Amino acid sequence: MRPSILSLDPPALAEAVASLGQPRFRARQLSEWLYARHAGTWDAMTNLPAAMRAALAERWLDPEGTLATVEVAGEEGTGTRKVLSRLADGELVETVLIPAKDRTTVCVSSQVGCGCGCAFCASGLNGCTRSLASGEIVAQAAMAARLLGRRPDNVVFMGIGEPFLNYEAALAAARRMNDAEPEGLGIGARRITISTCGVVPGIGRFAAEGRQFELSVSLHAPTDAQRGRLMPVNRRWPLGELIPACRAYTERTGRIITFEYTLVAGFNDRPEDARALLRLLRPFPSRVNLIPLNPVREFDGRTPSDAVCEAFREALERGGLNATLRRSKGRGVNASCGQLRRARIGRGGPA
Ligand code: SAH
Repeated sequence: MRPSILSLDPPALAEAVASLGQPRFRARQLSEWLYARHAGTWDAMTNLPAAMRAALAERWLDPEGTLATVEVAGEEGTGTRKVLSRLADGELVETVLIPAKDRTTVCVSSQVGCGCGCAFCASGLNGCTRSLASGEIVAQAAMAARLLGRRPDNVVFMGIGEPFLNYEAALAAARRMNDAEPEGLGIGARRITISTCGVVPGIGRFAAEGRQFELSVSLHAPTDAQRGRLMPVNRRWPLGELIPACRAYTERTGRIITFEYTLVAGFNDRPEDARALLRLLRPFPSRVNLIPLNPVREFDGRTPSDAVCEAFREALERGGLNATLRRSKGRGVNASCGQLRRARIGRGGPA
């Protein structure tokens, strides 16, 4: 399989162009097409000589070859669009475009499926088939730019997959999104969020990246007993390792982690859960993002009432934790993690 042109960092892109016997300025033109003008195909790059385009096509996948759109599902009212795409080897990935008043967020996938197996998450139900190459992740943001006609404002690595189990490619993609045009898409580092289910070594590496990317940690429960039931990853990295790693990250970078907490009725939404969460997180600055469970068929947990969700949020706020309650968008388009892809591939694994 030819690699994606979007997997190349600027020096590698320059070298690729030089290896075709082309002068230096052609690398800049190519970069401009990829990252500033959001071209989808070699043919669109009209100021490159036809012979150069043909030579590129022999060795590399263009953005649309990297990621071919299969289906775009829109949601009534919210403007959320979920895009199902096919990779060059036939695997399927999901990307979600979430518009707000004055900005659009793109939610990208980092793996084909997921190996983490969180109980309530549709992404993990068929396991992880493979990790995405960095170009396959960048291609999702570039595709969003083509659909929008401009660069997306925010990127969240909250689609399918665990970015810290595909660390190199995920971070290479984040850098390509963050680099100024034409080397990259020019999206501010603080507008790029990586979300992890708690892969502790990844948190340590991320602290040393030296870019101001945002970090989200999917916590979902305040004790090992509860978290272990929801998230198998907690057996590998229990709270006694996860929380100190988060604290060390905050101390080293001066950046505040957002803890994602999916509320499940009667399971982690009680007053004692709020108290336990306060004890866990109060020792260092952080914020909590509460997400009422988005029901999936395979998980028998229920979504708490709005009143219970709001009471939980208030209990955290009263205790001194900054907490927001997020209504999930995209329910109508099966847009919660992994649901559209799963609807397409069925239960038997990728077709
Ligand atoms: N693997 C990474 C990236 C996925 S982010 C991570 O776990 O952080 C997607 C977020 O949505 C995670 O916080 C995940 O736990 C949450 N999520 C998945 N399925 C959900 C559901 N059915 N209801 C509510 N939140 C869900």
